[in-house]
Order: sequence, then structure tokens, then C-alpha cells
Amino acid sequence: MDNFSSPKDTHSLLNQLQMELENENEVRIMEFCGGHTHQLVKSGLMSLLPDNLKMIHGPGCPVCVLPSEHIQAALDLLKSNSKLVVACFGDLMRIPTLGGDSLLGARSRGEDVRMVYDPTDLLKMAKNEPEKLFLFLAIGFETTAPATARLIYRIDEQQISNLKVYCLHVTTPPAIAVVMENLRPERRPMGLIGPGHVSLVTGLDLYHQASEKYSVPICISGFETNDLLTSLVTLVKSIKNKKNKVYNEYTRALKSEGNLEAQKLLKKVFEFRKSFYWRGLGEISQSAYKISPRYKEIDAEEFFKIKLSKVPEHKLCQCGSILRGEKSPLDCKLYAKACTPANPLGACMVSSEGTCSAYYAQGISV
Ligand code: SF4
Ligand code: SF4
Repeated sequence: MDNFSSPKDTHSLLNQLQMELENENEVRIMEFCGGHTHQLVKSGLMSLLPDNLKMIHGPGCPVCVLPSEHIQAALDLLKSNSKLVVACFGDLMRIPTLGGDSLLGARSRGEDVRMVYDPTDLLKMAKNEPEKLFLFLAIGFETTAPATARLIYRIDEQQISNLKVYCLHVTTPPAIAVVMENLRPERRPMGLIGPGHVSLVTGLDLYHQASEKYSVPICISGFETNDLLTSLVTLVKSIKNKKNKVYNEYTRALKSEGNLEAQKLLKKVFEFRKSFYWRGLGEISQSAYKISPRYKEIDAEEFFKIKLSKVPEHKLCQCGSILRGEKSPLDCKLYAKACTPANPLGACMVSSEGTCSAYYAQGISV
């Protein structure tokens, strides 16, 4: 198929899916990535899928899985350092922390908080404003980690001393493992749609182990409606035939070995943390990157001696259970009432890849 959003193809793929699922018991499939959740909901596909196909939304939204204490640490640093500029991707600015404060709130109080699209823009900013001290909050899965690695490499190469990086990048396979090992059998996915962008960097190898260990087929998908439908058909067939394989349904972009240059750069600049705490999934060993000692002058954790203190979540917020695949936004009493994108009470309502915000944007109601 070369037209990834043709309605004719969508129709025929939906028919195919329907036929494959006829007379079958419930089939559960998890889409790991927030981008896929967003597309499933935005395209209206969720409401067109056969009743016996249950989609379980996964923890693949980097903003959602980041505990607020890291944002709180940046806010505390802003208070104690008048020269500090905190830079981050847009969604991070609205994550609520202690007392509902956020980086956006700090900016409206006159603190220097800047949104960046391309982290390498910070090189120029730091050079142009030598009197300032820049702190970049680097988040994301393997997708955005190479851009941060490149930034660190350049800071080092250009000997820029007023730009520090707080590395908060997380990795996909440990999160898949936690979800698969902890979900109740009646919720556990029988197949997984793997993240497209992440895989462009990592390649397919990392999924083989998970597929074998958890006896599930995994299909890497693109982001168009027909990409997702094609992956669903592939997975359903595979589940029916009890074939636990890794499939690439994103062949127009994805090479099975991934991006070797990016992988090399990641190895050079980062190492694995012993352990990292994820919102919803808890403490997971070897699940996040830290800056390698070779670049320790650039490492904000070293430079600012960052200490984290726990930030309690809103008592009724169900983000944790949603990220674990246990619940949907409709199970949260605050959804679309007290919690909306204009007044988010939890991270899943902030990010465009968050499940609550995807549901809200499409007017899905209880
Ligand atoms: S960056 Fe891309 S692959 Fe990663 S979670 Fe977001 S949409 Fe999915
Ligand atoms: S609707 Fe808001 S409060 Fe409820 S789970 Fe989602 S983000 Fe949390």
C-alpha cells in the first residue's frame, strides 16, 4: 500500500480486520507509543474497531512518565539562581508540580523559562548571552536522545561553559517489560504495536527478546490510520496463528538495524542509570540514560548537585494506572470535569501524546 490515508484502503483494512476477528474471543492489543494513541483516537478508529478488539494504551508518552520532582528541582534552582535560564520542550512547561505550580507559572512570574524546538539552538543562545547560565531539561525516549547526545557533544567541542544538560531520557524495553509483567492476565496484551520513531533509532533487535519472553507478536507501525490498521491486521493474524514474531510494518522509513550513527553517538555520550523512577511504573533498573563521566562538566546533576524531593500527585489522578495500562481516562473522576487541557491536574492531560488529552481533544466522554 502506498497511500497511507486513503479512505478506500481504510475501508478495506477495516473489513479485513473484521473478518479476521469474526467468531474470535476478545483480542487485546497495546499500542505502546503516545503518538499511536493520539492517532487512534484522533482518526476515530477507536470507535470503528470490532467490539472484540480491545486496545490498551501504553506508557509511551515521555512527558507523562516523567515524575514532577524533576520539574520541581528546576523550579527550585530558578528561585536560587537569578542568572538561570531553564529551557525545555513545550509540553514540559505545563506539568503541574507542588501546589499546582509549573514552569509556565514561573515564566509568568518573570522567571527566564524558554521553550525550544531544536536543542542545538541553545548553543547560540548560550554564546550570545554569556552572563546567563542555561539549563536544558532533556526528555524523551530513544527518539530524542540522539539530539541531546549531539548537543552534549557540541557543547564539549565548542567548550561552552554556561550550558548544562539535565538528562532525563528513558528507554523503551524496560517499560514494555514492566507493563507485561504487572498487568492482570485479563488485561495483559496479546500483541503489541511498537513505537515507530523509537525504532527508527534502535532498530528491531530489542523487540525480539521481549516477543519471545512474553510470548507476544510485536509489530512496529507508522503513524497514519492505515499504518495502524495494517499493523492490527498483522497482529491479529499472528495471534490467531500463535506466531510470536517481530514485524516491521513501517518499511518505508524503518531499517531493521535502525540508525547506526545515532546508536554510536548514544553509546559515546550516555551510560545507563542503575535505576530510574517512572510515573506510574515505579523504579525500573537500567531504564534511563545518564551523561557519561567523560562529559561531567556538562551534566546538570553534577553541576547543580540536584536533590529530588517527592512531589505528591493529585489524590484522585489516575495517570499511574493509565500508564500501566490498567485504566482508561474514563475511569478518572476528574476527567473533563476538574481536569482539562486548560487546567491539567495530571501529566496525561498535558502532553499531546498523553491518553487523557487525546481522549479530551476528541470529545470522548464518560
Ligand atoms: S516520540 Fe514518537 S515513538 Fe516516541 S512516544 Fe512519541 S510519538 Fe511515540
Ligand atoms: S483526567 Fe487528569 S486527573 Fe484524571 S488521570 Fe487524566 S490527567 Fe490525571
